[in-house]
Amino acid sequence: MKIENLPRLPLAILPTPLDDAPRLSEQLGVRVLIKRDDLTGFALGGNKVRKLEFLVADALAQNADVLVTGGGPQSNHARVTAAAARKAGLDVTLIFFGEPPAEVNGNLLLDDLLGAEIVYTHTDDRSQTEPTMERVAQELRKQGHKPYLIPRGGSTPLGCVSYILAVQELLEQLEARRIKADAMFVATGSCGTHAGILAGLDFCGAAIPLYGITVSRSADESGARIKALLKETAEFLGRPPVPAEREIILKDAYLGAGYGIITPEAREAINQVARLEGIFLDPVYTGKAMAGMMDLARRGEIARDSTIVFWHTGGAPGLFGHAEDF
Ligand SMILES: *Cc1c(COP(=O)(O)O)cnc(C)c1O
Repeated sequence: MKIENLPRLPLAILPTPLDDAPRLSEQLGVRVLIKRDDLTGFALGGNKVRKLEFLVADALAQNADVLVTGGGPQSNHARVTAAAARKAGLDVTLIFFGEPPAEVNGNLLLDDLLGAEIVYTHTDDRSQTEPTMERVAQELRKQGHKPYLIPRGGSTPLGCVSYILAVQELLEQLEARRIKADAMFVATGSCGTHAGILAGLDFCGAAIPLYGITVSRSADESGARIKALLKETAEFLGRPPVPAEREIILKDAYLGAGYGIITPEAREAINQVARLEGIFLDPVYTGKAMAGMMDLARRGEIARDSTIVFWHTGGAPGLFGHAEDF
């Protein structure tokens, strides 16, 4: 399958900017560039907009009439999926783990505005999200609907494909400015973005190390998911697998108490980047990724004066659901 031949629903404003971060760079002693995928535009942006261009187009090609996905009540992925469903004229059901929160704010407020049907799993066991999605989809089928299921985070081969293109876009921007990047950083959650960037680097023959700061799973668990996604994506595209020597670099020391629970380091990183660069990070993903990048730069694991690209994958709407963290 050739990427150009895949159906794609245009949603994102592309290319996203590649911004300098001069004050942050000076403070860390490394040159930091920020790839502004928070500015993909559609429905308040973020990395999920790129993935959903392919996922929703696939749903339409299969004549689906309702999108079903899941996550936490502050899921950015759920918010963009709900908006993309509306843009495509589809219905949408969101499965959220846990109980309904006391307050409706942040992404959850936007899901309400979009009129998404919301179902809670009533358990904190996040692995119950997919079985509940399956159950809800079964009910929808019984009612005569054609549901299209999108796993949490949109991390499927189609989701990864969108990040192969994002890497091409970034490499063109770097080349146009004659910048050589020494390393990249990304927040690693459901792993599709990380896997897609690795596949994209391989596709383009570029060898920039990618550091994934995990925000929901251990490095081992995330690594296994990334390997599986790389294999599925290569098979889907009919390409040779990404060579095993392409190292998967994962750091899980910045996860703190778990997914969605802020750490003091992330709070500090969010404050600093806002004050130094006027850019908002988020408490669940990019705040922790930035905390990891800052720490590795300060400890010299990232060499002084090297050039780093930080993928800003979005999430700022989640700030409004975590006001008490600040
Ligand atoms: C989903 C998300 C990520 C992580 O992307 P995955 O493909 O799930 O690993 C990072 N940042 C933000 C803001 C997100 O919403």
